[in-house]
Amino acid sequence: MLLPMAKKRLRAVFFGPHGSGKRTQAERLAQVFGVPSLTAGSLLREEIEGKTAIGALVEDYVEQGMLVPDDLVNPVLLRKIRRYVNAEKGFVLEGYPRNVEQASALEKVAKVQVAIHLKLSDEAARERVDGRRDCPACRSVFHLEEVPPGPLETCTRCGHGLQGRPTDHPEAFYSRQAIYHFMTEPLVSFYRQKGVLLTVKADQSIEQLHTEIQEKLRRLGF
Ligand code: AMP
Repeated sequence: MLLPMAKKRLRAVFFGPHGSGKRTQAERLAQVFGVPSLTAGSLLREEIEGKTAIGALVEDYVEQGMLVPDDLVNPVLLRKIRRYVNAEKGFVLEGYPRNVEQASALEKVAKVQVAIHLKLSDEAARERVDGRRDCPACRSVFHLEEVPPGPLETCTRCGHGLQGRPTDHPEAFYSRQAIYHFMTEPLVSFYRQKGVLLTVKADQSIEQLHTEIQEKLRRLGF
């Protein structure tokens, strides 16, 4: 009798411009593959809300949408990741690494098996974030066309009024795009050289994109 091929434990990172849908895709993928999903921005916000020493140091950067220096962000993220690696668990990371230095630091703790690059033009990203609305109460994410909210832009899950993200305002958006192109996009060649790059066109629906990523990973043996 043929035994089914052992599945590889997924260790994936997502990167892409603001508005490419990283968080949504990372969460869905982690759920399907039964691994934890880690969001760099949320972990940093937890430090700020928990009023920790690191939280106080990173607060200004996060509020201004600037990249937090590596020597602050690496310890917070790598500590969590090390825990998963020691427990022999997989993970899906979103928002980390955001530059080549962070990617090199991550490699020393856990070898990334797939780096999923969500590719989206600046114009398409701008259109995406224009329609995006968040629920500040339960953190559900909506889009005026793709994932419509309730009447008068309310949350369909908890009824709270929705709001746009401060980082989605045009000025903040364009500065984030510039940081992305300059700092984060070099990850394309970093991960290509390692042979783990998976580039996917992000200008499709949430469902289509999720299906495409999942199918590609299954074909790779995950
Ligand atoms: P996000 O929720 O991904 O938009 O992240 C919110 C903020 O957290 C960013 O604007 C940065 O200030 C900070 N941040 C998140 N991930 C990183 C990272 N990998 N490196 C440096 N700063 C980060």
